[in-house]
Amino acid sequence: MKKTALFPGSFDPYTNGHHDIVMRGLNIFDEVIISIGHNTSKKNRYFDIDFMVEKIKKTYKNIPAVKVIVYDELTSSLAKKHDAKYLLRGLRNTTDFEYENTISQMNRYLNESLETVFLITTPKYAAISSTIIREVHKYGGNVNKFLPYKV
Ligand code: ADP
Repeated sequence: MKKTALFPGSFDPYTNGHHDIVMRGLNIFDEVIISIGHNTSKKNRYFDIDFMVEKIKKTYKNIPAVKVIVYDELTSSLAKKHDAKYLLRGLRNTTDFEYENTISQMNRYLNESLETVFLITTPKYAAISSTIIREVHKYGGNVNKFLPYKV
């Protein structure tokens, strides 16, 4: 049976840290669906959603096992729709752990066949966060080194 994992997040922007988790996820799963959580009524992103979808699609154009979708519903319901039994998430530090622990418990409560699989960050990406990249970009810094595509 095909093993599908959702990789949910805001990906504002999608970074080399995210890319590393997806590529390593492909060693475990047959398909990884990068699922960008986006509330269409709230325009509170820094990087435009369509721009980000296009950049991610381009990044994986030669890897059909990676898909990208935008969603605005419970992640646990989205997983059922795509027949995904796994959520893929990355862990950088204890702050990530505290946050992920809560979400993972809730997701299993909402959809009990859903397991979250955590991959520990690769050390060279441990300091990369979407937040810091937004800050640097906002003040004119070049962030391309931290992204698997160019902005
Ligand atoms: P969210 O908005 O749900 O926190 P993000 O887009 O920030 O989502 O991140 C999605 C997932 O990727 C989260 O599990 C996060 O911990 C993980 N992640 C983000 N940056 C890195 C990184 N540099 N290394 C490993 N995992 C990461």
